[in-house]
Amino acid sequence: MNEIFRKLAFYPADILLPKVDSMEKWAVIACDQFTSQPEYWERVEETVGEAPSTLKLIFPEAKLGEESSELVSNIRTTMEAYMNEQVFEEHPDAFIYVERTLLDGTIRKGIVGAINLEEYDYSPHSQSAIRATEKTVVERIPPRKIIRENAMLELPHILLFADDEKDIMCGYLESVKEELPLLYSFDLMEEGGHIEGRLVSGEKVTTFLGKLEAYLDFIQYKYANSKKTPMMFAVADGNHSLATAKACFEDIRIEHAEEIRELDLPGYAIGGLAVGESHEEMYHILDVTLPHAPEDKPRYLMGVGTPSNIIEGVARGIDFFDCVMPSRNARHSHLFTSKGIINLMNQKYELDPLPIDPECTCEACRNYSRAYIRHLFKAKEMLAMRLCVIHNRYFYNTLMERIRDSLDNGTFDEFREKYVDIYDTRI
Ligand SMILES: [Zn+2]
Repeated sequence: MNEIFRKLAFYPADILLPKVDSMEKWAVIACDQFTSQPEYWERVEETVGEAPSTLKLIFPEAKLGEESSELVSNIRTTMEAYMNEQVFEEHPDAFIYVERTLLDGTIRKGIVGAINLEEYDYSPHSQSAIRATEKTVVERIPPRKIIRENAMLELPHILLFADDEKDIMCGYLESVKEELPLLYSFDLMEEGGHIEGRLVSGEKVTTFLGKLEAYLDFIQYKYANSKKTPMMFAVADGNHSLATAKACFEDIRIEHAEEIRELDLPGYAIGGLAVGESHEEMYHILDVTLPHAPEDKPRYLMGVGTPSNIIEGVARGIDFFDCVMPSRNARHSHLFTSKGIINLMNQKYELDPLPIDPECTCEACRNYSRAYIRHLFKAKEMLAMRLCVIHNRYFYNTLMERIRDSLDNGTFDEFREKYVDIYDTRI
């Protein structure tokens, strides 16, 4: 998948649109609106009548508390019927550019696409690319899961805000909208205003990619001098739906973990968590899946990670790791030490007579000073990289030894608490 889509956690999607006589009757408001006004929903029912409609595919929350199992099973049956009757037309690998005109003339612009659920984390101090803007009430997830689980269709009513003050993305699509095929244009029921959608597919996606890249650059520039992780999107509406989607997504991981467990293999690997995912996300997935992996078989976390990642992985039951980090970082003068991470190229080490890590007994630390190795880097002397690689690998080996010893002695928890933050701190 394209790197820009991956970094933004935003992708083109396979979008189903209905081929129906009346789009007015097809489109209804989101299930969590007008919850205290059952009469609103009665009017909607009257308007829709027997026509195909999303009303028959959603569970209006105004009806929560009523007998739900019948409603859920009706939703399932209707989904199946609509699929069999080929009510939908699929637009693969596409975005839709949407303009909604409100009654007062205000135009709201948006883009329909897919997001990467791995990059959404609703926990309060999340540093993920996509974050919630309201507190997520975990109790609200299970009733929503009942409807979504094993459902053939997905009707998201999730709105994300982009931090796009220059209107790079929607502004561009607006400027070329006459070239985009019109998919629908109609008045929404209950005075919801007017809506139209235009297809962005094929070559248009490629051109639009340039604008997504510009947005990505803008965000990266904005956060360049900040210690905060860039936020690409904030959830404006439908946070609980997104949290539900995430929960279902995690269930799939658990199911897979259980299927793989039954294969009774010599060992079990967990991968795909070190290619842009946040640390929080990685820990979360380990928390969710590891209880379902056999305890008596080696468990391997692929491509991870920093010393703290390793400590946190072990705490969750991981037995082994692999990573380029000790050697690659060493070649870029980033060194792991007992006090945190140092960058030997910093000016302050220019005349520093201490070894890389005074507590380390590796070949490099026993024989050379920070100032000397820094000088070697400056002189583009290969020996600099070699010495640093020796040190970092020694550091990792010693770390693993200390973890094993602390597990043997029953002191791992103290070890974790003492070092987990120090080792990943830049000093
Ligand atoms: Zn050393």
